[in-house]
Amino acid sequence: MHPLSPKTYAPVDLVPFGGVYLRQKAAQAAEEMFAAASVEGVGITALSGYRSYETQVGTYNSWVATYGQEQADVASARPGYSEHQTGLALDIGTGGACDVQVCFKDTDAARWSAAHAHEYGFVLRYPWWQHETTGYWYESWHFRYVGRAEAAAFHSSGAPTLEDFWGFALSSSE
Ligand SMILES: [Zn+2]
Repeated sequence: MHPLSPKTYAPVDLVPFGGVYLRQKAAQAAEEMFAAASVEGVGITALSGYRSYETQVGTYNSWVATYGQEQADVASARPGYSEHQTGLALDIGTGGACDVQVCFKDTDAARWSAAHAHEYGFVLRYPWWQHETTGYWYESWHFRYVGRAEAAAFHSSGAPTLEDFWGFALSSSE
């Protein structure tokens, strides 16, 4: 995992979207994606977007306090390492009981997004059983905006993870 530089980085073009904040281009893409899903009868809501360094300090520390550091490190990013701090990561949900749970993968929202997110510039960031590469357990709700061209190229490459596609490996020494 690569830290943000500086670790307290905050984007300057955050805009509100569906109750969260995203960088402007990611918010616009998400709006188009959610609208397209809605046309097909699939409701998707935004659960989490930008999270500040300070917020991540609190989130990570609560995971450590509850589960210990080893479990915390695969469930929550260390402060300065979360994609949510970039303003380009979006956690989606439905408002149902499976939000941010393993069973979210079986919802229409997750299935539709897995199939179509790349058309809007988003990629499923932490796929099933790729934690040794990505550093995180499967998160069927976590998407990252990389832009339409990049997402399409990633999708058609067949690479299992963005790390494989971009050609860098997880640094476990961090
Ligand atoms: Zn997330």
